[in-house]
Amino acid sequence: LSSELTSAAQASATACHLPHKLLINGAWVDASDGETFPIIDPRNEQTILNAASASAVDVDKAVNAAREAFDEGPWPKMSAKERGRTLFKLADLMESHSEKLALLETLDNGKPLSVARAADVPLSVDHLRYYAGWADKIHGKTISVDGPAWAYTLHEPVGVVAQIIPWNFPLLMAMWKIAPALACGNTVILKVAEQTPLTALLLGQLALEAGIPPGVLNILTGFGPQAGAPLCSHRGVDKVAFTGSTEVGRYVGKMAAANLKPCTLELGGKSPIIVDKDVDIDDVVLKAHSGLFFNHGQCCAAGSRTFIHADIYDEFVEKAVAVAQKQKVGDPFTDVNLGPLIDAEQFNKVMNYIASGEVEGAVLRTGGRRLGSEGFYVEPTVFSDVSDNMSIGRDEIFGPVQCLMKFHSLEEVIRRANDTHYGLASGIFSNNVHTINKLTRAIRAGTVWVNCYNVYDAAVPFGGWKDSGIGVEKGEYALQNYTKVKAVYQRLEDPAW
Ligand code: ADP
Repeated sequence: LSSELTSAAQASATACHLPHKLLINGAWVDASDGETFPIIDPRNEQTILNAASASAVDVDKAVNAAREAFDEGPWPKMSAKERGRTLFKLADLMESHSEKLALLETLDNGKPLSVARAADVPLSVDHLRYYAGWADKIHGKTISVDGPAWAYTLHEPVGVVAQIIPWNFPLLMAMWKIAPALACGNTVILKVAEQTPLTALLLGQLALEAGIPPGVLNILTGFGPQAGAPLCSHRGVDKVAFTGSTEVGRYVGKMAAANLKPCTLELGGKSPIIVDKDVDIDDVVLKAHSGLFFNHGQCCAAGSRTFIHADIYDEFVEKAVAVAQKQKVGDPFTDVNLGPLIDAEQFNKVMNYIASGEVEGAVLRTGGRRLGSEGFYVEPTVFSDVSDNMSIGRDEIFGPVQCLMKFHSLEEVIRRANDTHYGLASGIFSNNVHTINKLTRAIRAGTVWVNCYNVYDAAVPFGGWKDSGIGVEKGEYALQNYTKVKAVYQRLEDPAW
């Protein structure tokens, strides 16, 4: 227990030593109006620290700094190799501060420290290295054309990029955004989620230490309407990238469109997990469990509709309940599977969905209650007999609530899995290659995981179809978000050509 207490104390001490300010033009500054807001510890609802609350004035300063850094250089003009080396250096610094980053992530977000250590931090470092490697491998094409002429394309950085991220994977989402943008030579204003600014503050310090020039990476803490909206609608921004709710994404998309700026959106989901009758039930129960309960269900790609073949449905339900009941919920600095939800708003939303599930006739098999009287702890909750038209079967809950549904035929489950406005991810568990092939092609979603779930690799693209978003992040595909194609048509003087 003493080492656990030490971890929590270390996390608080690390947080206290962070700059509680905005990073603009390479300097840590207070909000121009001096406003601050409390960052709440989801374990006990106490204030961890007060962060600077950016407003439109600060956004303007940050955009101007990014503009100047882009227009005057050196970042977009330096050799691509050197840019890559700077990003590799940042990745090395992050790695050497892994433990601090993990402690801060757990303190801020409430995810188990074991998860922050094993997933959030190493995936973030890996992501940055992946794009650092791309920096000097971005190039256009030569094109043969009629006449004494030739043509080629240049893939140039877009310019000043506004990026807004959510609270569920604060460091990793920051990295999904800034790594490709910086590798391509853009300058960035990153607006982090108001709930979870801590790892971004350490990241900002490390970026300065790595030698990322002033104005290239600006970090704003603050709220959506006060800081996010002015950022998205700023005329000095050349591209907007957003991860968050579908509701806010629509609004962000409109603001970007009003300025005719390209915009990538990574939004919500209600992703199906389809379990065929021929699977190893014990194994798939575990995988479907973590497909939903990972990060307390606070994942845009959470497998929040589990369709189980009728032949194995009863056994699957019984085993899914047993697995959920075994999970330890508690202080994320201790040896637990689940910590608290992020905040009061999310907690209330999840509890309301649980209540609606019962009212609408789903069978609450386990969980459903708050744990303790302080902090946002919710029991792992499993509903069976969920039907497609129930709120818990249709809406994104973003919490530890597993919805089990029965299906009889492939045609039926394809229709039902696709009967959603969302199209982010999906999972198929089967040992029948024909079933797998048919489902992978029939599911209308940006990701299909086959006999696995929630697996992320920096090289593999990720993006939502339908109301789950526009565009893709990660992998080589994301380079297109952060480069513009310039066509150069060049006349040759020698007619012999
Ligand atoms: P969640 O429901 O997961 O909190 P949100 O979509 O509300 O997701 O928030 C995701 C990010 O969008 C956060 O950084 C938040 O501050 C920001 N945000 C919220 N409202 C707006 C807005 N009106 N304009 C721009 N950004 C916003």
